[in-house]
Amino acid sequence: MSAYADRLEALAADAADRCTGCGKCFEACPTAREIGLDAGEAKARVGELSALTLNGGPAAEGLQKWLNACDGSARCSAACPEDINVRQWVTIAKMKALDAARPREVGAANAAGRFRHMAQAVRLLASMQLPSETLKKILQPAERRTAEILFYTGCNVLRTPHIVLNVMDILDALELDFDVVGGTSHCCGVYQFQEADLPTYERMGHRTFQRFGQSGASKVLTWCPTCTKNFDELEKDVEEPFFDLGHVSEFLAANLKALKARFVDQPKRRVVIHEHLGIGATVDSIRKLLSAVPNLELVELVQDSGFSYACGGQAAKFKDRERAIHRGLAEGAVAAGADTIVTMYHSCHRALAGAEAVYPSLRVVNFTDILAEALGRGGHPDYYRLYKAGGSMDEAVAAARQFLSSNGVRVDEASVQSLTADIFDETGLAGSRDAFAQAFTALAKEG
Ligand code: SF4
Ligand code: SF4
Repeated sequence: MSAYADRLEALAADAADRCTGCGKCFEACPTAREIGLDAGEAKARVGELSALTLNGGPAAEGLQKWLNACDGSARCSAACPEDINVRQWVTIAKMKALDAARPREVGAANAAGRFRHMAQAVRLLASMQLPSETLKKILQPAERRTAEILFYTGCNVLRTPHIVLNVMDILDALELDFDVVGGTSHCCGVYQFQEADLPTYERMGHRTFQRFGQSGASKVLTWCPTCTKNFDELEKDVEEPFFDLGHVSEFLAANLKALKARFVDQPKRRVVIHEHLGIGATVDSIRKLLSAVPNLELVELVQDSGFSYACGGQAAKFKDRERAIHRGLAEGAVAAGADTIVTMYHSCHRALAGAEAVYPSLRVVNFTDILAEALGRGGHPDYYRLYKAGGSMDEAVAAARQFLSSNGVRVDEASVQSLTADIFDETGLAGSRDAFAQAFTALAKEG
């Protein structure tokens, strides 16, 4: 075992050692209930978790079902009277059980396939929506940066890159010395960890984290909730870095006074935040930030915010529940007279961006859209929303034609088909997929 793997083992062993076996974590687990695991068997399941941790795999049948169901909501950690990070413990145990259940090469091949598919989609979507100078800037190696603050985008937000441009605008408005870094060459290694391919994870996610340190930045601002969770629990807890690490929303909330001083008058808006718990203080931070925006009224809705820490990802296996969450949110927003749904993360934004096709009175924006505009900046076109809403693609195609050419990237018909599936097969609200498929197939045929 590597030194890194040893330290992960030690984290899990410490959790098992501190655990009293009360079972409150399992009782609180929303996905265990979703698949019908009985809360009355909590002590047995936690006993199996401890046994797996201390004696090795494979996992007992009931435990394996629990581990497979986990979507990272962190309700277990919130419920633990001993203050154990149960989500972290479950994540490590899941990886360990998988490693014991099959040859490592199988996991490595799965992880490589998932990474390849994601990387191709991210590369195409980013190349369709961003000028080459911005994309090149983001993709430059982290270790070559010199700024005080590193804004780390992760990979998947580059499917909706207006969010990245917004954050850059906001940090610019605060006159900070920052640099932006991300893309698949700086992946957090989530697929490799999930598929129990620890050696590749170490060369990828662990290495990305080390590269942040090599840049000399004193602060790393994360965007993606998965990267935030992974770096927090699988890196920072394993070895304390020399830099501060936190989600960009928390950093902005801590700088609210400086932001507020720069806010300009805004149109009246009634806003519902699409909420997720489970990633630090992100909901509270976004709530605090939006509450300070002139003429913005927050409309409160009861939401299923504890089911997953973000839309998609590991929660995507619960399609019906995710569908119900999205429908319930949009219908609740309309009934409450809200005109805007605000997304916290990019995966939620992808899920909800097409809501206006179904609920024409609603507009979906990310919280960074609102903040950047309140600072007199922002206004970057959200092409992904145009894709999802399924109306006229003229503006999105014209932009893609120009950006693809500047990035030296071409789309072919097969990649349009693959992108169409990626965009429209995700759970969420959307208009017709034909508008996107036909318009971009026509663009591909231009050659
Ligand atoms: S993180 Fe959420 S889904 Fe996973 S075990 Fe904990 S409560 Fe259950
Ligand atoms: S809630 Fe905490 S102490 Fe209780 S069983 Fe779960 S991990 Fe152990």
